[in-house]
Amino acid sequence: MDKAVNYIVLAIPVFFLLIGIELLLDRLRKTNYYRFNDAIANLSLGVGSQVSGVFLKLFVFIGYNYLYDNFRLTTLPGMSGDAPTWAVVLTFSALFIGVDFFYYWFHRLAHEISVLWGSHVVHHQSEEYNLTVALRQAWLQGAFSWVFYLPLALLGFEPIMFLTVGSFQTLYQFWIHTKAINKMPAWFEYVLNTPSHHRVHHGVNPKYIDRNHGGTLIIFDRMFGTFQAEEEEVVFGITGQPKSWNPLWLNFEYWGGLFKDVAKARNLVDAVKMLVLKPGWKPDYLGGVQPFKEVTPQSFRKYDTHIVVGLAYYIFFQFVLLLAGATGYLLVAENLEWLTKLAFALLIVITLVTLGGLLENKRWAFFMEIFRLIVAVPFAILALQSVSNPLAVSIVVPIIALISFAWLIPYHNALKRAEEESAVANA
Ligand SMILES: [Zn+2]
Ligand SMILES: [Zn+2]
Repeated sequence: MDKAVNYIVLAIPVFFLLIGIELLLDRLRKTNYYRFNDAIANLSLGVGSQVSGVFLKLFVFIGYNYLYDNFRLTTLPGMSGDAPTWAVVLTFSALFIGVDFFYYWFHRLAHEISVLWGSHVVHHQSEEYNLTVALRQAWLQGAFSWVFYLPLALLGFEPIMFLTVGSFQTLYQFWIHTKAINKMPAWFEYVLNTPSHHRVHHGVNPKYIDRNHGGTLIIFDRMFGTFQAEEEEVVFGITGQPKSWNPLWLNFEYWGGLFKDVAKARNLVDAVKMLVLKPGWKPDYLGGVQPFKEVTPQSFRKYDTHIVVGLAYYIFFQFVLLLAGATGYLLVAENLEWLTKLAFALLIVITLVTLGGLLENKRWAFFMEIFRLIVAVPFAILALQSVSNPLAVSIVVPIIALISFAWLIPYHNALKRAEEESAVANA
């Protein structure tokens, strides 16, 4: 298998630089486009999707490679052959349009077919709109989307070239997740996907739902009738708010609800219809299809939680450590033995789930966090030994864990109180 450069991981510093600039502008202009809990959830889902990608990529790529090796109809000029530069550039351009075309169809069907929506819904759960939303990706989307690109293998586009173009198509979509840019020049808005077009895509206003599915280009939406210009102010989110910051729950909540409904179907036809028709389709005896409600920024209630300030700083501190660790992991994951690879991935997921639980004032998260701090010590020592002085590492890592303990313990009472209060509120 070709070794592909993971451009997404390499772009992490650029992501954070731009997020930093957007956040600074937000604070200076007092626009409130960022909420701490929402941003942490977005980034957690982003980290998790890269980690799941480490495992999914293998399967996905085997499929593309297999078709390319055995069934391709032609051999187009590639990066590894000795084709003239102009021919490679031309192939790259054609592939770019091809990838964007199949992305459009995957993305559109991911919105229009219930069971596929479960693989994409995560990207739409944020009720804010800023650059961290771009990184909010479902952990299993890649397990579904790859099938849509297989025609490109049959057409003879080299696998390594496909992966490269695919990465750049994903990277393009980063900058369009912002409210800091209003409109681009008219010709640009006509051809390419922009912050304005993509805000519409994230809208929960009835007229904006299931519009503007394009990746880099917006022309496919214009061609296939799914284009909608930004008019009224967009309200961001989805109709069935999952009310959580826990990344595991956020990934599976929709599918859980869907399969529960499917289990109640009175016949096979209804069961299949619930899986393949538009999200929200139900037979009448299960409540039928509910119309979308009109919303305005004033009437829409965002999901929110309040935690004590010190705990927020604690979560921020742990999240920074997690980001550093996860970036390191993603850079070397390919070379790790599979058991090691899996163990580190699990630790990353446990960390994300625990921090999400703390954002919700959950006491189980407090106990899980203590467990995590203990487990993380040998992992961190093991990982850092190869890049730093082993003696220093085995002293510094436990000290950080001890400081974390001392920092965390006093918040137990605050969490207990919050849990009691929410029990009273829900009674
Ligand atoms: Zn979407
Ligand atoms: Zn988006």
